[in-house]
Amino acid sequence: MKIFKNKKQLKSEIGNKKSISFVPTMGSLHKGHISLIKTAKKYKYQTLVSIYVNPKQFNKKDDYKKYPRNLVKDLKILRKLKVDYLYLPTYRDLFKFKPSNRIYLHKFSKILCGKYRKYHFKGVLDVINRFLEIIHPKYLFLGLKDFQQLTLIKKHILKNKINTKIISCKTIRESNGVACSSRNFILNKKQMEIAKNVYNYLIKIKKNTKKKFKLFNFSLFKKDLIKLGVNKIDYLEIINQKSLRRPKKSKESFSIFIAYYLNKVRLIDNI
Ligand code: AMP
Repeated sequence: MKIFKNKKQLKSEIGNKKSISFVPTMGSLHKGHISLIKTAKKYKYQTLVSIYVNPKQFNKKDDYKKYPRNLVKDLKILRKLKVDYLYLPTYRDLFKFKPSNRIYLHKFSKILCGKYRKYHFKGVLDVINRFLEIIHPKYLFLGLKDFQQLTLIKKHILKNKINTKIISCKTIRESNGVACSSRNFILNKKQMEIAKNVYNYLIKIKKNTKKKFKLFNFSLFKKDLIKLGVNKIDYLEIINQKSLRRPKKSKESFSIFIAYYLNKVRLIDNI
């Protein structure tokens, strides 16, 4: 695996490659990332993974500081997976140039995480836009665990007519149902148990809501989640993944979206 900390060197290495499969990450790699990389490898192109904890997408300094970082372990994982390239950019390398495409923020950015994390999606799109300009990947592998992020990147790519295809990858979960996340590394045993109970609760209310749509009682469900040990809920929402709105009719398909805190750790999921 070749490691690059500088876009000039990276570009001179991959510039003549016809196709790159790109997997952007913030590191502290887990089974979700590994599944994305394994999917990317099936596409038979060279695989490039980036690890960069992007300060622009954190709305709280403390959250950015405390975000888990584990480069030694990450390198081991990536080498084992036989990833071709790893890009470890610095802030300067990424942000000190003017990209040719403008960030397009679709109105779906105004709800869910966008409502509670000011500038988060602007920061995400800023960094992805720059990565795409440096790398020109043929394929971009993104996880459905971050459905809102994936959708907004898709809209940005479409609007700017960028020649990169997004491959959506399913959410990988721990054996107890909790979605794999780098933030899980900073949960203690008790908090992991609460996360498991939250997952089971969401499965249960989804099943009931499917039977009788009008039974989705936001305030009651939130109260129940607090009783389970959740410290704070940013949102609990039902969204039709096609219309990107709360469904109006019983027959519409939907997913439950949640962002909640266990102590100071913020977790998101969609089920
Ligand atoms: P992150 O390192 O959290 O920025 O995530 C990097 C990529 O991995 C994003 O496309 C995420 O959606 C994806 N990802 C994170 N967690 C999971 C998961 N549990 N299952 C599948 N993909 C995931």
